[in-house]
Amino acid sequence: MSTPISRRIFLALGASVVVAACSKSDGGGSGDDGSGDTTPSTTPSTTPTTSTPLAPAPFDVDPFTLGVASGDPSTNSVIIWTRLAPDPLNGGGIAEEEVPVRWEVATDIEFTDIVSSGDVVATARHGHSIHVEVAPPAGAVAYYRFRVGEFTSPVGATRVAPDSSSLDTVRIATASCQNYTAGYYTAYDDMVKQSPDLVVFLGDYIYEGGVGTLGADTVRLHNSEEITDLVAYRNRYALYRSDPLLRNAHAACPWVVTWDDHEVENNYAGLTPQDAVDADGYAARRAAAYQAWWEHMPVRLDPPVDENLSIHRRVTWGGLVNMLVLDGRQYRDDQACGDAVLQVSPACEEASVPERTMLGAQQEAWVAENIESDAVWSVLANQTVMTDIRLGAAVLNYDQWDGYAPARDRLMESVSSADNLVVLTGDIHLAGVGQLTSSIEPTTARGVEFVTTSISSSGNIDSSTEALLVALPNIIDAEVAHRGYTLHTIDATSWTADYRIVDDALVEGSAVTTWKTFAVTAGSPTVTAI
Ligand code: FE
Ligand code: CA
Repeated sequence: MSTPISRRIFLALGASVVVAACSKSDGGGSGDDGSGDTTPSTTPSTTPTTSTPLAPAPFDVDPFTLGVASGDPSTNSVIIWTRLAPDPLNGGGIAEEEVPVRWEVATDIEFTDIVSSGDVVATARHGHSIHVEVAPPAGAVAYYRFRVGEFTSPVGATRVAPDSSSLDTVRIATASCQNYTAGYYTAYDDMVKQSPDLVVFLGDYIYEGGVGTLGADTVRLHNSEEITDLVAYRNRYALYRSDPLLRNAHAACPWVVTWDDHEVENNYAGLTPQDAVDADGYAARRAAAYQAWWEHMPVRLDPPVDENLSIHRRVTWGGLVNMLVLDGRQYRDDQACGDAVLQVSPACEEASVPERTMLGAQQEAWVAENIESDAVWSVLANQTVMTDIRLGAAVLNYDQWDGYAPARDRLMESVSSADNLVVLTGDIHLAGVGQLTSSIEPTTARGVEFVTTSISSSGNIDSSTEALLVALPNIIDAEVAHRGYTLHTIDATSWTADYRIVDDALVEGSAVTTWKTFAVTAGSPTVTAI
């Protein structure tokens, strides 16, 4: 039994077994239906396949400047990624349409035991990026690398997800918002030292803005004016990946990545730009941004063919985690009430129009169909704050779920029968813990939201307002002054979230400590500090 395989990305060379990275079989963006031991959507390579010599490289400079990455593990396979870019900040620097690349997977870091290998073709059409689905042995860390001519990439570590019989503890790091100009990536250095099994990135991987717009708190500069075309988006991803701490974090373990707004531009909604004056050509800009995102992320997704790219998908981990990775940007209605921020007057009528959507009808239905599982924890990897923090009739930030309250109520009702709901969120550049509710029964706890602070992007709420934030009934706690990430330790009876914060992200190598640790006990929809 097999499902259709897209072979658009990869071309087999000679007798090598090469498989497509992805297909779409579940209505979401992923070929993996996440159901554990069912038939995989593609047939991974399992045997050593290459003995032919490598062709000479068509360049004389190391093309592996952007490092390596892996992601979207299923129980059968994982995607490994690289992009050839001998001149990373200037479009990549490869004139050839096609460059053959060898990939190798081994059980040891010295590659004395190569368990599979193959050749793929990197094409100019996709920025000479490659995404390969590989199937290392289950239950252990595996190592991968790429080779072109005499050049060999750095080594990455990865693994497939355990199957549904496993209740072994998993450690997942959540991260978001890494404005390169606003701070150093010290949080990633600490994250790698903590050796999580999986990193979940919740959006704002790049920022689209110009060279340096943060005044005195600019620690380093962007490489161009505001980015609007494919080459500029590629160059911006390359700049971010020039940071060795970010490259190391990608090489350390598989990632699951979703996007928020800044991968295209601030606070865009669907095909509506932030500013109406930018509407002309916006679909083409978004298409360029989506393609560059796909080219640089280790995702189990087909490349975009038009201005759309379906990325919502399911990732499971053993019998513990059933995670739905959401896209809260591509299908949302425009922000209500002129996208006002920090207004305490009652919301305009538009905000309560029931048809307004954050996820779009198709994704809403997909969540309802896929959130229930046999896993202990039902998880949403989400962009904007879902906890209800409205002040009476006032919405403090129309870009968050508060600005889409009827859609949030629909979502809360559609997931109400799922076990142990945990929502993982980024975007807002503060550390927070929220109690999820529905306005249909506002006093009933539905689950817990863990909002990770930004990796580097500057805080957008003044420290003096922290006490006001914490006083909101659904905010369990918050810390607005520090950058960092959250490390989640998950087993069959508890979910523990360590909030790791960087003392000063404006200083390289600053100390990283735990702000607070929060715990949820399976069976209870509430959270406590421990
Ligand atoms: Fe952000
Ligand atoms: Ca954002």
